[in-house]
Amino acid sequence: MPAHALVPDDVRVFERGWLSSNNILLCSDTGAALVDSGYVSHAPQTLALIASALGTRSLDVLVNTHLHSDHCGGNAGLQGHYPALRTLIPPGHAEQVRQWDAEALSYGPTGQSCSPFRFDGVLAPGSSLRLGLRDWQVHAAPGHDPHSVILFEPEHRMLISADALWENGFGVVFPEIEGEDAFDEVAATLDLIESLQPRTVIPGHGSVFHQVDTALDVARQRLRQFIADPRRHARHAAKVLMKFKLLELQQVALDDFQRWIGQTSYFSILHRAHFKTQDFRLWIEELLQELVRVGAARIDNQTLFNQ
Ligand SMILES: [Zn+2]
Repeated sequence: MPAHALVPDDVRVFERGWLSSNNILLCSDTGAALVDSGYVSHAPQTLALIASALGTRSLDVLVNTHLHSDHCGGNAGLQGHYPALRTLIPPGHAEQVRQWDAEALSYGPTGQSCSPFRFDGVLAPGSSLRLGLRDWQVHAAPGHDPHSVILFEPEHRMLISADALWENGFGVVFPEIEGEDAFDEVAATLDLIESLQPRTVIPGHGSVFHQVDTALDVARQRLRQFIADPRRHARHAAKVLMKFKLLELQQVALDDFQRWIGQTSYFSILHRAHFKTQDFRLWIEELLQELVRVGAARIDNQTLFNQ
């Protein structure tokens, strides 16, 4: 690969942002595979990006690292456009996808959306699969999501880390929202990543990076803070859910936002588990003010704006 490039030419990373996960297109002369498909409201944009990269060729394989709404929201659109597309998902939620159980798949309790999609096979941890020009190992990576996998290409030591490791942290630990201990799993997954000794990490969000040791240090430091004070993680999780919705809506009347919060069960679960001595509305108000204080949101004329 050229010295200036972070990844080889056959690996194309579409860095999307926080509402949509990054999309990774892996191409060879005989086929094309995509890892993760973004959020449903960006589905037309995802399709346009992939179609313009592939031209007249078709997309053959779609892989999801995990089934959070920001990683598989483009699946349905891609399946519609490429009828022969084979979709592979982690095994943990296969039954829930088959039956389309939006509660178990987290779309209900997070108040997020995802269009139903089909799948054709699962990504068994311990196996490997050819995507584009390369063989990728499938590793279980519980923590952020109990069923997530990460993909490792040993020759160039490239890691597709999903939300298990970003340059500056990792994704909210979803099982902890539901009262299940998962900080140990986050730590074990960080240890696994260290043991793979990746040279390049392609994260689920944010830029591709090489400074893996630094990123692991940052992630472990953050994890220690959450373990020492689980309420800190609970507040963080609630704010992430709010910010995600705001990224989707861009602007919303405060009353409507409060209504959405009232219907989104993760907020009441977090409140009950960690903050039940405080009035629910006041707790929500405080979190919104924190988002405003750090410049992530703006309130004007009873309307909440994304910033
Ligand atoms: Zn995720």
